[in-house]
Amino acid sequence: MVYHVLSGQAKDLFQSLETGRNQKTSIMQKHQLSTIQMLRQRLYVLLVILLAGTSSWAQNPYEGKTLLAVFAHPDDESTISPILAKYAREGAKVHLVVVTDGRYGTNDFHDHKAGDELVVTRREEMRCAAELLGVELTHLNFHDQLKASEGYDGHVPHAREMVKQLSDIVEKTKPDAIITWGPDGGSTHMDHRLVGASVTQVYLSKDWQRPMSLYFYGTPLNNIDDADGKVLRGQASKYLRTKVSYTDEDLEMAAKSYRCHYSQIDPMLTEADFMDRKSKNGKFVYLRKFEAPKSDSDSVFE
Ligand SMILES: [Zn+2]
Repeated sequence: MVYHVLSGQAKDLFQSLETGRNQKTSIMQKHQLSTIQMLRQRLYVLLVILLAGTSSWAQNPYEGKTLLAVFAHPDDESTISPILAKYAREGAKVHLVVVTDGRYGTNDFHDHKAGDELVVTRREEMRCAAELLGVELTHLNFHDQLKASEGYDGHVPHAREMVKQLSDIVEKTKPDAIITWGPDGGSTHMDHRLVGASVTQVYLSKDWQRPMSLYFYGTPLNNIDDADGKVLRGQASKYLRTKVSYTDEDLEMAAKSYRCHYSQIDPMLTEADFMDRKSKNGKFVYLRKFEAPKSDSDSVFE
């Protein structure tokens, strides 16, 4: 009986100790569980942040970069428009400068008269194209053909003013990269060649405070069939080492934006025709990077 009493008391004591331990274990387990849950939650949040960051980088790998493209006429940008769409889509700030007003852009497809009325039309068309490409447009006021018909006194002051305004734009936009016409000007058009040369002069004219690359659009010799074309605008592949690819989506956007230049195109030309023409370059835009010599030399034969 005593044993039983003692035994009962011991049992009660044991049970109460056991209960206490269980409660303590349970509190500890709860504590451990909540710590694990908290860690899990933190890891999850970290993972979400990392994934969001990675996905944001994947979608906008060029965020913070600035590209400046400088061309002569409204519609010239179509030469590289798929990569303008691409860089804008991938987060870069893309500035497009169109130097002339396109007042002489008459053709067999439409009966537009050269002059101020056509300028208004082409400015609107250029705005439409830039908006679709997702680029910021600066459309300058220089005359189509840069007043070539007015001879030296008309043309040269106009061309000098163009160099100064382009220099101001480079100062203001602080681009990481510039793309413009090369010496061939694509079609040998004097405005194309002079715009390319003027941008090059701006680039060379001072030691810019931040790294800036200059690229010239070019066509590989192998992509040109006719003999004259090879001489007038072809370039050996060893110079066109920057081959920028783009997606079908970029090409479609480029085709849509080209349609904005209605006054300049055959109304029968479809977006598919534009895409076929562009695809002949294998869905690449070829560029020649301007390279400065790495060291001084005292001979031209080294
Ligand atoms: Zn042009």
